Amino acid sequence: MPMNKFFTSFFLLFLLLSAGSLSAQPIDTQSIRVGIFPEDDFTTLRIQCFSGSWRIEFGAASATREYLAEGEDCTVMLVPKGMVARFSDGKEFNGGYDKITLTGGDLLNLEIPDHQPMLLQNHFEIGHTDASMYLVNTVSIHQHIVSSISKIGITNEPEALRALCTMARTRLTWILANPQHKESPYDVCDSSHCMHFWGCGYNRELVDILTNMTAGHIIRHGGKPIMPRYHNTCGGRISSAKEVYGVDEPYHPAHPDLLDGKGSENCFHSPNFHWSIELQKVDIIDFLSMQFAGGAERIYGNWEPKTVDYGGRIQEVTLRGKVPKNVSGVEFHKNLSEFFGPNGVKSMKFTMEFLRRTIIFRGMGYGDGVGLCMYGADGLAKKSQKYLDILKFYYPGTEVK
Ligand SMILES: [Zn+2]
Ligand SMILES: [Zn+2]
Repeated sequence: MPMNKFFTSFFLLFLLLSAGSLSAQPIDTQSIRVGIFPEDDFTTLRIQCFSGSWRIEFGAASATREYLAEGEDCTVMLVPKGMVARFSDGKEFNGGYDKITLTGGDLLNLEIPDHQPMLLQNHFEIGHTDASMYLVNTVSIHQHIVSSISKIGITNEPEALRALCTMARTRLTWILANPQHKESPYDVCDSSHCMHFWGCGYNRELVDILTNMTAGHIIRHGGKPIMPRYHNTCGGRISSAKEVYGVDEPYHPAHPDLLDGKGSENCFHSPNFHWSIELQKVDIIDFLSMQFAGGAERIYGNWEPKTVDYGGRIQEVTLRGKVPKNVSGVEFHKNLSEFFGPNGVKSMKFTMEFLRRTIIFRGMGYGDGVGLCMYGADGLAKKSQKYLDILKFYYPGTEVK
């Protein structure tokens, strides 16, 4: 019957249309809220419009609205009644607002005392707690990948950069599905805890192109996106996630960073393959008391490695004092980096030479040594490996789709 046929085709068309509208938005165009300097306290900031016209709304109910045109700037301060703002043309907004949002413009320059200025795009929100303002920049996953990989991607090799873009997309996807900052108004922080973010001031054209070329590509294990780990330089041997973090991630095994198990290490050309630093013994004592001490029971005068893993990384450390204490290598290294800076003791893969007043640390690699070694990825690309080979090498047992 023609009528029936009509209805059947109509129904099929309806199904097709609804399936189309229900199908997920491409991952790269999805939004992600990035917390900017979430660890820091600040009560004043300045925003300057570099291009476009930014609409600024004061208060959650968008009761007050103002525009920031090219070249104009606006200073926002946190005072006891809330936030207040003053524009470069003299206009003042003294309402004591809980929220200020900026949208519609093109480029914005953010200045916070004691921080590098940051170029931002898209949607920007300023809020506050009792002691500090907080900032949330909403960008697309694409923009986040370009921001991260342009800055941390130490390579110019297109195949290595494609691998890094895919790694970053996968990591952001995993974090969106497994929130790491549930109590916060953002999805990801701007540090390596989630994924480094620097606004758009460092964006590289090549990374933008390669992010587009890999759009939608996700590293999967058993069909699910993985939480891909990465570091700057492994120093020749990758450690497993089990050894370093005590977690079972089968796609993060220990293995040599060698192609086909031979030749020179893939990251051998890294400036961090070998490193050394000489530290004063008194500074080490200061480090132990500043970072670990607390009460008479917890005064540590010395420390020593307890266990070392396959990759040569110190897994556990014993702090020596009245009551000895064991801490993980990861925690010890985090404290070392806080105290001596990120370029002090670059990894937990080192030996020590004790001199009269100093200790010489001779080490290999930079970072935790788990997952993708960025200099290694660069080395593999230089050895003609394609980006899928690079990802399979560092995340064995996974597939990209
Ligand atoms: Zn985080
Ligand atoms: Zn390596």
